[in-house]
Amino acid sequence: MHYFEYREGHLYCESVPIREIIEKTKTPVYVYSYRTLERHYQVFDRAFKKIPHLICYSCKANSNIAVMSIFRNLGGGADIVSGGELYRALKANIPADKIVYSGVGKTDEELKSAINANILMINIESEGELDAIARISSRLKREVRVSIRVNPQIDPKTHPYITTGLKKNKFGIIWEDALRLYKKMKNHKYLKPVGISSHIGSQILELSPFLDAVRSLKDMLHELKSLGLEIKYFDIGGGLGITYKDEKAPHPEEYGDVIINEIKDLDVTLILEPGRVIVGNSGILVTKVLYIKEVPGKMFLIVDAAMNDLIRPSLYSAYHEIAPIIDKRDFKRKKVDIVGPICESGDFFAKDRLLPEVDAGEFIALYSAGAYGFSMSSNYNSRPRPPEVLVKDDKFFVIRKRETKMDLIKGESIPDFLRV
Ligand SMILES: *Cc1c(COP(=O)(O)O)cnc(C)c1O
Repeated sequence: MHYFEYREGHLYCESVPIREIIEKTKTPVYVYSYRTLERHYQVFDRAFKKIPHLICYSCKANSNIAVMSIFRNLGGGADIVSGGELYRALKANIPADKIVYSGVGKTDEELKSAINANILMINIESEGELDAIARISSRLKREVRVSIRVNPQIDPKTHPYITTGLKKNKFGIIWEDALRLYKKMKNHKYLKPVGISSHIGSQILELSPFLDAVRSLKDMLHELKSLGLEIKYFDIGGGLGITYKDEKAPHPEEYGDVIINEIKDLDVTLILEPGRVIVGNSGILVTKVLYIKEVPGKMFLIVDAAMNDLIRPSLYSAYHEIAPIIDKRDFKRKKVDIVGPICESGDFFAKDRLLPEVDAGEFIALYSAGAYGFSMSSNYNSRPRPPEVLVKDDKFFVIRKRETKMDLIKGESIPDFLRV
């Protein structure tokens, strides 16, 4: 959080006081640090410099096209999970040959766009999908590069909502089936199996699950070689965790060393799909304290952001560091619940949190909000979604405007029989 720090008592993002941003945008507002995004990408990239690799930023973590453009300019590609993300990736000028596409429910329409765009590869997640790709590519008479997303059945020891590589999860294809499907594709006119992939979960804080997954993929790779398939891409997905509170997340360099050591003798290009580790700690959500409400035994800070803006606490009981934008580190602390205005008891950011005393009208920042923050936001309770701001050095740019009330009803209409 080096680029978010207090200077003379005020929170800055790089060289811009947060105060200055909220004067312009009001609150709530997401603020991202360009220098942090750049550094995180570069540290991750450097961790793999010894071997051929491609970083396909997993854009569901933060899919703003300005953010995606940063990684494009640094040489990165994109990992997409929908036709909408393909659209965003192309709008961010990410070269099609640096785009990989995962997801269990790709529609014909989505597959067609991906095949027409000639992306690097589609990661197949079921036999039904394989058949759909075969049918569509034959109809279009276009070759399509594919890989099978193998489910290595490994427990990544993370939150149950974000494990993806267990037998009970909907993702990937188990070993025996994967082998059979590779054989099925072997002499297909249009399906070109060029890769093998996996993604075992998110916010993973140990290296051993990654190592197990890589070993499993490696075994599969050898099987495929013996079948005479030429696999060029070895895609190990994303999932590296970050520090929200006091978690000891592995440094990308350690992660890199472990993986390089395992695959350095394979003649493949490594594909990585990091999301959270690049963007998570690069952004904050700034919100205003509207009211302080006391009931016996409890004090609530009611703020102007809500679960529709940042759902992680409600959805996964996720922890976000919270602090006023005025430096009050020496102030007396009080235990408070920080809640939003939405009509749901699940609408909270923190419970029983020790926070320096603040007054109504003051602003607080929720840290580590760069990943799965805005990208998971909604309009629930008819709340326009907040703006997103990118800070670079002493300048800031609104990279997404605050939604308006007109945006809220966009596309809706009242049928004639209901008109007055
Ligand atoms: C979500 C996702 C990622 C990124 O996960 P992080 O935990 O954010 O790194 C990578 N690959 C696939 C297929 C995903 O679904």
